[in-house]
Amino acid sequence: MFADLHLHTNFSDGTYSPEELVAHARRHGFAAIALTDHDTVEGCATAAIACAEAEMEFIPGTELTAEQDGNELHILGYLIDTQNQRFLSEIAKFQLVRQNRIREMVARLNQVNVPLTAEAVFTLANCRAPGRPHVARALVEAGLCHNLDEAFERFLKKNRPAFVPKFKMSAADAINLIHHAGGVAVMAHPGLNRTDQVIPDMAEAGLDGIECFHTKHSTSTAEHYLEIADRFHLLVTGGSDCHGMSKGKPLIGTVKLPYQHVEKLRVRAEERKAAALAG
Ligand code: AMP
Ligand code: ZN
Ligand code: FE
Ligand code: FE
Repeated sequence: MFADLHLHTNFSDGTYSPEELVAHARRHGFAAIALTDHDTVEGCATAAIACAEAEMEFIPGTELTAEQDGNELHILGYLIDTQNQRFLSEIAKFQLVRQNRIREMVARLNQVNVPLTAEAVFTLANCRAPGRPHVARALVEAGLCHNLDEAFERFLKKNRPAFVPKFKMSAADAINLIHHAGGVAVMAHPGLNRTDQVIPDMAEAGLDGIECFHTKHSTSTAEHYLEIADRFHLLVTGGSDCHGMSKGKPLIGTVKLPYQHVEKLRVRAEERKAAALAG
């Protein structure tokens, strides 16, 4: 039995609807999946229903963007209470930051004579948590770039003309927010962010786990993080980070996390929920 604990839908920058995602997961034979859209949990209700119908276990989640010592890192929150008021009002702020950032990116594109409109991006994104992949897709749709890679390379990457940094919470704030909503906080794809040096501090701040298995982690990278997880007594997770067709090809199925890790995640979530209730 296997799980994929890192998946996106069109409630953020993936292209599949929750129902489509669940259908793909089912075809791959997963026993459990987690939905981890950026700064939102809106897709979770629909995904939960689709999973129940497919007799697959569903884990509600999200992926928050944080910063620690000047490094961007992503924190996955699992088994959070998706109705928690403080959690929802905090992520609503990050959704607003994302929407304003789209307008700023479009203004910068216009400054370099790329005639994209913010409306074109918002129409295409059709969600509360738009991001750079939506701008890239809008550029391609408008015939202003040949493909997504070109859009990122020419305009959207760091140090390119339309790159706009995003306001980020601290890693400790992200961990606390997830814990407040009774969830489990996991550092996403550490191999992509090269942030090993912050792991001891984050473990101290209550980090629960590390995403050791990820599409972009080599076998040796995964082994490296398994060793770190062991050293700091952190849970082990893994997922494909599938964005549907947004990254050229669907990645679901490329990472198969052994189910035993899901059981450990659930045990930790029970502890976090009890702690959140105790205040
Ligand atoms: P944002 O949260 O708006 O900064 O956008 C981040 C998203 O853009 C993540 O899903 C990344 O995987 C994706 N992304 C970053 N760089 C590239 C790239 N060069 N090509 C395609 N997608 C990218
Ligand atoms: Zn994404
Ligand atoms: Fe990420
Ligand atoms: Fe992701």
